[in-house]
Amino acid sequence: MTKQQLLVFTDLDGTLLDHDTYDWQAAAPALSRLAQAEIPVIFNSSKTQAEIYNLRQTLSNRHPFIVENGGAVCVPEGYFSASGLPSSDSLKVTCFGRHYTELTDILKQIRAEHGWKFRGFQDLSDESVAALTGLSVAQASRARQRACSEPLVWEDSEEALNTFTEQLEALKLRIVRGGRFFHVMDQFDKAEGIMWLKNHYKTRWPDREFICVGLGDGPNDQRMLESVDIAVVIKAPHQTPVKLNTHADVIHTTEYGPKGWQTAMTQVLARYDIP
Ligand SMILES: [Mg+2]
Repeated sequence: MTKQQLLVFTDLDGTLLDHDTYDWQAAAPALSRLAQAEIPVIFNSSKTQAEIYNLRQTLSNRHPFIVENGGAVCVPEGYFSASGLPSSDSLKVTCFGRHYTELTDILKQIRAEHGWKFRGFQDLSDESVAALTGLSVAQASRARQRACSEPLVWEDSEEALNTFTEQLEALKLRIVRGGRFFHVMDQFDKAEGIMWLKNHYKTRWPDREFICVGLGDGPNDQRMLESVDIAVVIKAPHQTPVKLNTHADVIHTTEYGPKGWQTAMTQVLARYDIP
């Protein structure tokens, strides 16, 4: 009989982590049940590899993770080999779009051509990013270690922004408006890494049927939630709830962040008779 195996993909800010305090303790019981049952919990965030590193350590998570809104997947060396979970901390990073230097070179070039006023993380120091975001200088430094997407502060007119957007589209790049920054990246989203990883799990364990669970709270989670078998929409205090266009199995939580995570995951585990 084919063994059913859950894979859990989760957004971090506002989903597993509290929107304001970044605390995850409310989800600790579910996380420990998932660890007991050897169900991979895969972070899928807009954060960078360096930013996710500490959280992974704290949660003793040794599974792959997806960074920069689906831009790259980081897999522990040997993870999909036959010998089981790896002991080393080294990661293999696979980027789905153009690499950071190529991306920032393009941005510099079109800025010079058009004389637009904007500053990307590459133009800024750790200190200035810290001042703009409220992060500590060490945190800002981790946010600046990027693989494939560039946050930028737009300092030009709305009209120039439209031309800039058109120019990016012509170069097959995307621009997404975030809270404080615009994010420029290649044509990928949070669903990309899920498909890639699911294929790797299938290849490694061909006798298992993988069921993907996705949890997210924001518009940038939409494609991720539409691509999984069970979608959990976490209630968010500061934004309108994510609307899904597909008929995935959807759970809407009535609690915010990790509390909602805990409740929804308890429901999912009960469905599959997982203790
Ligand atoms: Mg979020």
